[in-house]
Amino acid sequence: MIEADLLLLIAVILPPRALDILGPVREERTIQTRYGTVGPVALRALDHGPAVWVQPYSGMPGRTDPRATLLAAKQLGVQRVLNWDSVVAINPVLGRGQPLIVTDYMDFTRHQPTTFFSEEGVSDISQVPPVCPQMTQALSQALPMAPGVVYLGVDGPRRETQAEARLFRSWGADVAGQNLVPEISLAKELELCYAGLATVQAHSADRPQGHPSGELRQGLELVMEQLPTFLAELQGPPTCDCAHHLNTARGRGFLADNWWRERIE
Ligand SMILES: [Zn+2]
Repeated sequence: MIEADLLLLIAVILPPRALDILGPVREERTIQTRYGTVGPVALRALDHGPAVWVQPYSGMPGRTDPRATLLAAKQLGVQRVLNWDSVVAINPVLGRGQPLIVTDYMDFTRHQPTTFFSEEGVSDISQVPPVCPQMTQALSQALPMAPGVVYLGVDGPRRETQAEARLFRSWGADVAGQNLVPEISLAKELELCYAGLATVQAHSADRPQGHPSGELRQGLELVMEQLPTFLAELQGPPTCDCAHHLNTARGRGFLADNWWRERIE
């Protein structure tokens, strides 16, 4: 049986068959969670290469409850989640098609559940690193041309106004997107390794858009070509502390050990 330790959430539009670079589909699974159904999720693997679960993911209003997505990752038995989003460039030095690695984030969403703890306690992930250090380093090695960015999570599908773009820039956001937040916080509550990858799809509303000339497609292809390298870097169990970071919060009595277990059984 093929085992995969990573779930790839893809919120960019890829050309047909682009995912074949990760190998053929070996299995498909639909997962029931207490927050809704997730899938079908496809297991892809090259003949002698790493295997990965792949889930197309987009931020439309009717999308899957993000809590369902992260609990499904737990049920699949993966320790790592990589989320690849298409984003609006708030920072004016970033151009269309530019690949980026998320290093920190802000949450400006207002209509989504941003924690598993809304009714029954306090979520304290303040001492947990924003992204998994080991996965993020592997991304940097596979994509050395991708700078680190601060990601602002916004609700879709409405785009930002010009005034909002200036506001977001003043906050220190480099990009804005709809598919990485609150997933990133939810993953930490579940003690999963989580990393964010982004590709610039458009300039912010207060900047000229220019005429597209294939740079978005080239940027997406660049990332696709490097994904097998990234996956190969991550063979073996995690060397990071992501699965243990919540101990600090537990020590203060916020969380039970393996609190999520009852939710996936
Ligand atoms: Zn980690």
